[in-house]
Amino acid sequence: MAAVAGGESVELVDDLAVDEPGPGEVLVAIRAAGICHSDLSGMNGTILQRFPFVPGHEGAGEVVGTGDGVSAVHVGDHVIVAWTPPCGRCKPCLRGQPNLCIDIFFAMQARARFHRAGSDVFGFAGTGTWTESIVLPEQAVVTIPNDVPFDVAALIGCGVTTGVGAAVNTARVAVGSSVVVFGCGGVGISAIQGARLCGAAEIVAVDTVPRKLDDALRFGATRGVHPDDLLAANGDITGGEGFDYAFECIGSAPTFRAAWDATRRGGTTVIVGAGRADAILSLNGFELFFSEKALLGSYYGSADVRSEFHRLIRLWRSGRIDLEGMVTARLPLEDVNRGIEALQRGDVIRQVVML
Ligand SMILES: [Zn+2]
Ligand SMILES: [Zn+2]
Repeated sequence: MAAVAGGESVELVDDLAVDEPGPGEVLVAIRAAGICHSDLSGMNGTILQRFPFVPGHEGAGEVVGTGDGVSAVHVGDHVIVAWTPPCGRCKPCLRGQPNLCIDIFFAMQARARFHRAGSDVFGFAGTGTWTESIVLPEQAVVTIPNDVPFDVAALIGCGVTTGVGAAVNTARVAVGSSVVVFGCGGVGISAIQGARLCGAAEIVAVDTVPRKLDDALRFGATRGVHPDDLLAANGDITGGEGFDYAFECIGSAPTFRAAWDATRRGGTTVIVGAGRADAILSLNGFELFFSEKALLGSYYGSADVRSEFHRLIRLWRSGRIDLEGMVTARLPLEDVNRGIEALQRGDVIRQVVML
């Protein structure tokens, strides 16, 4: 069975054919796949994506086949899917910014590895994990120890790497600093955990859903506030100066601006949320100059998936980050539309489809 996107829901189909792995490719049986907000963004046009497609870009599973010339991965390996895999040869890879590699990513997006009734079916962000099996370039899977549960592993494939990485790698949050995080979904909760790992003194979580603020406190936020109460929290914590770091984990123009405004002069605003091409942040020349704020984009946690996935597994094993606690619900693929509805209501951290 597989899910194929049509608008903001999916059709569950039994007739999706998966290509055999070609040279340099692997066949992966998906065991767990996260429902990330970006999947919905692909379905509603926020993120550009070729249709029809299988959603899902967070996933973990087992390698069940390999094509010619595959050397780094073997049948039986447990793996996490990396939706932007590093090629290892291009300028960004050689410069030490492998998360910005586009060589394999663009090729993955351009090539349909699923077919249905003789027509091409693409995979979201070049992957497409809401299905029983998938063919990927060998670079797009990272082998992990066999004892890591698949649901935990799936989360690492996108949300956790993106959020923890934004704090640890992109911003390099300093010990004792003040942090505000906008949005307490999977990525925001991960950014909170990342800021806590870095030793932030105060971590303020901002969300409109009261239950998610309670969740945020469990993961290391020191205070949770409704957006209407942020100004008061800013006054209490920073004397109104603003936070050392603000992380926007939503992807909308009003919260880009709110994150910028909540950052102190000389502080750092980090845009983690994936916004639409027409979501415009406007900043005037004087404030840019006078505030001396740094505005950073953060893409896939500024991480090298080949080492970052393993680092996150070690942090999880030693209890320094909580990944099981992020799984709000586990669902069978049959119920994925119910999961999408819960995501739209905004009252979940992360749901994982178990296959
Ligand atoms: Zn590259
Ligand atoms: Zn994602």
